[in-house]
Amino acid sequence: MSAPAPVSDPLAAYRITEAPYYRPCSGEVALYQHAYAHRLPLILKGPTGCGKTRFVEYMAWKLGRPLVTLACNEDMTAADLVGRWLLDADGTRWHDGPLTLAARHGAICYLDEVVEARQDTTVVIHPLTDARRMLPLDRKGELVHAHPDFQLVVSYNPGYQSAAKDMKPSTRQRFAALEFDYPDATVETEIVAHEAGIDAALAAQLVGVAQGSRALRQQGLDEGISTRMLIYAGILIRDGVAPRDSCEMTLTRALTDDPDLLAALRQLVDAHF
Ligand code: ADP
Repeated sequence: MSAPAPVSDPLAAYRITEAPYYRPCSGEVALYQHAYAHRLPLILKGPTGCGKTRFVEYMAWKLGRPLVTLACNEDMTAADLVGRWLLDADGTRWHDGPLTLAARHGAICYLDEVVEARQDTTVVIHPLTDARRMLPLDRKGELVHAHPDFQLVVSYNPGYQSAAKDMKPSTRQRFAALEFDYPDATVETEIVAHEAGIDAALAAQLVGVAQGSRALRQQGLDEGISTRMLIYAGILIRDGVAPRDSCEMTLTRALTDDPDLLAALRQLVDAHF
């Protein structure tokens, strides 16, 4: 008798096999575990580049769940989330979108920067976020009941939002929220040193620049230097690029075009290097 054909795993590409490096900052790991135990939909709030995506990757790995991630943008349609009919050699075939794939087979679905999507797109997540936990595929005539392991997580940067782009209360109140911010200096130094492969003293200098830049938010800077940007600076310095050139490229110029703010950022770099 021949062996049964291997059952293909539709989520194989989304399984995280190696532990992602994540440095917990407060009680967020335990809080997430509680939220997941009840499959509560979650909003991760916080500025860009502060570790939200890495956190979800880490939690998905820790919980042994596949992670389906989708970066949202304003051109996205509901079909990009739920799926569409596609033409192939055998005719038309339904192709599950990332949200449907996750809901059907039991992944964590992470919609990054969800408010970037138009509101008529985001309403498709509503029936998945209440007790019904289902996803109607109108174009296919199917009602998908979410797999028991499915969880929806979205990220949201309150600093960016204009009134027009704020999250609708009807969407927002369906989620529990975890608040993120840049870690304190000691923790951020540890993260930057680890991720960029540089020593702690150099990482601390970079973190000093970032902290100064975050104080410039009151003076018109939309966002301060993020942990991600510090890692880029650290990588260039490790590569042998002069520290000031690295900072100019990855921190100063990357952040603003405003001449006054550029000057203020350069002063910060000069003060630390
Ligand atoms: P966000 O999703 O908030 O925009 P990311 O999760 O992409 O930010 O974080 C940017 C980078 O910063 C990550 O790739 C990771 O290298 C690093 N990082 C930030 N916070 C942490 C943390 N707490 N532990 C480990 N790495 C972190």
